Parts: sequence; structure tokens; C-alpha cells
Amino acid sequence: MESEKFVPEDFDASEWGNIEPYVNDLLNRSLSCTGCLEGLIADASSLAEHISETGALLYIGMTCDTENDEKRDSFLDFVENVRPKLSEFSDSLNRRIVEHTSIDDMSPRYDLMIKGMRNDIEIFRKENIPLGVEQTKLVTEAQAINGAMTVNFDGEERTMPQMRGYMESNERAVREEAWKSVTERRVVDSERLSEIFDELISIRHKMARNAGFESYTDYMFRAMHRFDYSKEDCIEFHDSIEKVCMPLLHQINSARVSSLGLDGLRPWDVNEKTGVGPDTEGKPPLRPFENVEEMVSKLSVMFHEMSDVLGSMFDKLVEMDTLDLDTRKGKAPGGYQYYLEKSRVPFIFMNAAGLQGDLETMIHEAGHAFHSLYCGHLELIDERNYPIEFAEVASMSMELLTQPGWDIFYEGGDANRARRAHLEGVIFLLPWIATIDSFQHWVYSNPEHTRDEREAAWIEIRRRFGSEMNWDGIDGFRGVSWQVQGHLYGAPFYYIEYGIAQLGSLQLWQTHRKDRGEALDDYAKAMSLGNTKTLPELFSAANLRLGFSEEHLEPLIGEIGVAMKELA
Ligand SMILES: [Zn+2]
Repeated sequence: MESEKFVPEDFDASEWGNIEPYVNDLLNRSLSCTGCLEGLIADASSLAEHISETGALLYIGMTCDTENDEKRDSFLDFVENVRPKLSEFSDSLNRRIVEHTSIDDMSPRYDLMIKGMRNDIEIFRKENIPLGVEQTKLVTEAQAINGAMTVNFDGEERTMPQMRGYMESNERAVREEAWKSVTERRVVDSERLSEIFDELISIRHKMARNAGFESYTDYMFRAMHRFDYSKEDCIEFHDSIEKVCMPLLHQINSARVSSLGLDGLRPWDVNEKTGVGPDTEGKPPLRPFENVEEMVSKLSVMFHEMSDVLGSMFDKLVEMDTLDLDTRKGKAPGGYQYYLEKSRVPFIFMNAAGLQGDLETMIHEAGHAFHSLYCGHLELIDERNYPIEFAEVASMSMELLTQPGWDIFYEGGDANRARRAHLEGVIFLLPWIATIDSFQHWVYSNPEHTRDEREAAWIEIRRRFGSEMNWDGIDGFRGVSWQVQGHLYGAPFYYIEYGIAQLGSLQLWQTHRKDRGEALDDYAKAMSLGNTKTLPELFSAANLRLGFSEEHLEPLIGEIGVAMKELA
């Protein structure tokens, strides 16, 4: 018999007053029957779905319209009034569950969940709740500052994502002017963004000390449930990237310098994060689509050609009308996929301006959405809440696996140009990941640093992982150019995940190059597991290996070299 739903379908979770009776029930109900503990977990999951979805919708509302004060206030109200009480409740509920006398009789299904609860209990501190709220406010301010940035360029006011088109121009003078306008605009707010970052570091360090940790790094490894790799693994990964990727990156750069006939690179000649630069044969920048409608309808055809399952999943996203894809002023930068836990519907946000990078972002976010749909059948919210290291395998491998289908967006040799640029992008992204991750390791192990020291550390790290380029006379923003990386504000330490996932994706791509069907099967099998297995187990479910060493990277990066030659 289907039991009555614990939380009604139309429940409003935006006010704590509405949530409280359910919380009291969960914390006080009698737990003496067989299966009571399981019932408690299921009901708590259903409440969590409602609350998560409410938070998601408020966040989506705000990021789609950063100039709307009402939407910002509703989100902040939720953050300030609901989330703090919620984390206190989660802690009490976690304790109620793990301290229960029949906890050891629970089925293995709950093992990972219980391990997570015990971990969270250990690091939970009530005094960190208001610090978390403070942190979110600062992050929201930084986002608003970035969302409001526009420049007057080429006769119009333009958003930062819109400026990317000019920065990829084949005319060096246009690139230089675009780069300089964007940089000058960023300098205007850079003081406040540095201040916000200073405040965040101090708050974060305090949270870590409160929880009994030496550093925020150690605290975050536990808070992010990084049970299967260590700080040392990350450091080894940085070294491997330096040894294996940097020679290829320098090769790509010097080939560009010579075919463009330059005397050296300047910052407007290559995007340091994506590797995007002017076309070496002077061809116009890749424009895979004119508008969002065209992108969406061509993607539908492309995914159907890959497999009916992916095609129908993609069409479902379009039908559900949960896509906000075009760029406009007042929209937060970047892209994300947010799963609506109660409706079990993925929402995709991005700023499409017609570039190849936009197509890649859309495919990336679609990969996250597929992941959510593949594991949507799992009953409990915790079982669907896949680890971010594997979430990015779903999205980054989709970028690589769709490559053969990109013909639909291009004529002539342009699809191969796009593929080559994308593979070059992988070679640039890994060192950028190493940059951001090493920078965070440095920042949080030296929480008392001065701004000058921070600049010096950043420039030193960029020397290790960046392109050789000439900064003469234009280095005013160089030392704070980490400010362009929003994760440093909103998602501290969330970056190495992209690197771990990229290695997984490259392995899946290797399979795909031999047997496309097998790769898609591996993908489906692993993504359907959601969060019910450990990270190494998820990797093996897709026939991948989790590793950080030079030996592990070499054949993967080597295959990129081979594929780039095939496309030449
Ligand atoms: Zn992603």
C-alpha cells in the first residue's frame, strides 16, 4: 500500500514557520518499531526535496535577474532565515539516526549515507552557522558586482560574456582594445573584490578553527566528503600536470606565434583558461549558431544521432521549458545546471552569445542534466546527490563524446577546427585547474597573508602553469586576475574536481574512440548509480581509474596529441 505523503505536494518551504512542524515530527517521533529508522530517513528526504527545490528556485530567480532587488531579497531571506535553522536541524537529525540502537542493523544501502552523517556530526559547530550566512552575503555581493559589469564597446553597452566575441577577433588591434576595455572595467571594482575575498578568507579560517582544524583546507576536505583522495594527491596532480601538459601547451603556443607571425604572446592573444585564440589561418571565429533556438534544435538532432535515450532526454529538457540560455544585462555570468529535487527536473542556466565556447557550455550542462535524469529513479535525495568529482565526468565527457556530431553546426573544415580547439582547450584547462587549486592551497594555508604576498603567489603559480607572455606596461590587473574565477568566492576548493573528472572523461573518450556504443553504455551504467557508491567505485562502474600520477596522465594527454594530429 502506498503510504500518505509526509509532505504535501504544494508545500511552501520558503518560510521556517512552515517547515518547523515537520522538523519537530522528525526529531520527536517514536522510533521503536522495525523499519522506523528507514521511515524517518525517507520522510526527512522528502522534506529535504521540498526545501532544496525552494532554494533552487530562489537562486535561479536571482541569477536570472541580478538587478531585481525583490528576488535578491527573497533569496537572501531564505539563506538567512531558513538555511541556518536547517543545518542545526540536520545535525540533530544526524545524531538521532546514528545514535539509535538499531543503527547497526540497517541494510548496506545506508552505509555511505551513515558514513557521511558521522563525518558531518564530527565537523558541525553551531557557531559556524552565522559565519556561513555572512559568507553567502559576501558571495552574493561579489556576484552582483560581476553581473553589473558592462563596457561601452563598438558603439554599444555590452556584457562581459558578449565581449568574448571581440576578444577572439582575428584582428589583433580589436582584441587588444577589447581586452583593455574589459580589464579597465574590472580594475574599477577590483579593490572591493579583493576586500570581499579578504573577508571570506578570514571567515573561512575561523570556521575551520572552530571545528578543530589547523586550516580551512583540512576542514574543507572533510566538509566536501573527500574521503578517497588527499591533499598530497592534489599536490601530486599539480606536478603531473606541470610535467605532462605544459610541454604540449608551450608547443601549441609557439606554433601559434609562428603562424601568426608574432614576436611573442600578449594577454589578448590567448585566453589563459580556455586556450581560445585567433585563428592561425585568419579564418573568422567559429560561430556554431545564430541564436539559442538554432542551437537547441540542432543539439536535439545531434543527441538523437548519438542515441535515442540521450535524444529523448534532451527533448524532455526543452519540453519542460527549464532552460534560460541567452545572455542579457543583469544576468549572473557563467553557466550551471540545478536539479529541482522535488519535481525531479533539471534546470539549465547559461549566457549564450553564439560562440563555440557557448556550445561547449550547453553540452556540458546537458551532461549534468543527463546525469540527474539517469539517477532520478533513486528514491532518497542523498542517493541522487552524486559526488561533484563524478558529476563533472558526466558533463566533461559529454563534451568529448559529442565531438563526432559537431558537423551539424559547421560547414567545410570548421567542425574539425572546433574539435581541435576543444582538444587544445583540454590542454589549457588542466593547467588552469592546477593554478586555481594551488592558489587555494596557498591562500588557506597562509590565511594571514598580505595582498602583496597574495599577488606574488598568484604570479608565481601562473609562471608555473601559464603561457609565456609579455605583460610590459599592462600588468595593473595581472596580480588580481584570479578575481575572474567565481569559484574562489562562491565555491571554495571546488575546482580540482574538474581535473579529476577530466581524467575520467578522457578515459571514457578513449573507449568512445574505439567503440561508441560501449562508451555510452559505460556512461549510462555509472550515472544511474547516483551517489550510491564511493568515488573509486563510480569510476570503475564506467571502466575508469581514479589516479593522479604522471604515469596515469601520460597516455591520456598523449592521446590528445594523437587526435590533434588526425584533425590537422
Ligand atoms: Zn559542470
